[in-house]
Amino acid sequence: MTDMSDGPVITRFAPSPTGFLHIGGARTALFNWLYARGRGGHFLLRIEDTDRARSTPEATAAILKGLTWLGLDWDGEAVSQFERAPRHAEVAREMLANGTAYKCFATQDEIEAFREAARAEGRSTLYQSPWRDADPATHPDAPYVIRLKALREGATVIGDKVQGDVKIGNDQLDDMVLLRSDGTPTYMLAVVVDDHDMGVTHVIRGDDHLNNAARQMQIYHAMGWPVPVWAHIPLIHGPDGKKLSKRHGALGVEEYQAMGYPAAAMRNYLARLGWSHGDDEFFTDDQAKAWFALEGIGRSPARLDFKKLENLSGRHL
Ligand code: GLU
Repeated sequence: MTDMSDGPVITRFAPSPTGFLHIGGARTALFNWLYARGRGGHFLLRIEDTDRARSTPEATAAILKGLTWLGLDWDGEAVSQFERAPRHAEVAREMLANGTAYKCFATQDEIEAFREAARAEGRSTLYQSPWRDADPATHPDAPYVIRLKALREGATVIGDKVQGDVKIGNDQLDDMVLLRSDGTPTYMLAVVVDDHDMGVTHVIRGDDHLNNAARQMQIYHAMGWPVPVWAHIPLIHGPDGKKLSKRHGALGVEEYQAMGYPAAAMRNYLARLGWSHGDDEFFTDDQAKAWFALEGIGRSPARLDFKKLENLSGRHL
């Protein structure tokens, strides 16, 4: 495997523009920003607007505005994932050519029938396509999707900087679709192609993407691309330790701005949500950039603490 540690650090924030800039997203962006800025690297922004039904220009604008208010400047232009769809399709075709992907002509009904039979027999319902090893000479002239020829034996190990070695049995991973029959890429393919093309060296994101990492890793391997360093950070919880939701109070960054909290205090506060440097609670950007390291990220979910934010705000004002 190629080593990515020689060049500059390149991180990214890759929000899906379906709403406001969520406090959890802001923290993810901040961690990526601190990591890159503290190492003379680059912090990139990619808008994951491939899902046309859910993505809106208003949401993109709100995210850019939130990041700008927080002072998290990104390098270069924000990348639109949707605009890169032709490149994603090209990679799917390269995988076809190198034998790590295949054309699957199964219809929705056939897939449903497979699942029903599997359920009835108590087998795994992960779809196993009969087209996986089919001779191309037998291919019909019909619509098809391109699927990854996933490994069926063994396990995929994600050497995660926060979670440690996470092992996922390959029997848990199906031959996921890379390119739909209408020629549009799936999210899983798009993320890997974009991270690779953007030269991303470190992927720091919520641990709700940990399972995706195992699937994404198989795409990196199929293409012979170097795998980035992964750091999956625990999600933020409410003060009661429960999954963050509206009843815990403000979730959008713009709400904190409207309440008059200074951006510097927000950065300080968000940095401490899940990351620590000794007992330091109050610090400047320069200190945070110098101190921030993946080793300082905790494995348990951080809890929102509004008193702490109040206190930090007073000190930053
Ligand atoms: N677009 C994804 C999200 O908003 C992030 C994908 C990633 O960081 O790899 O959850």
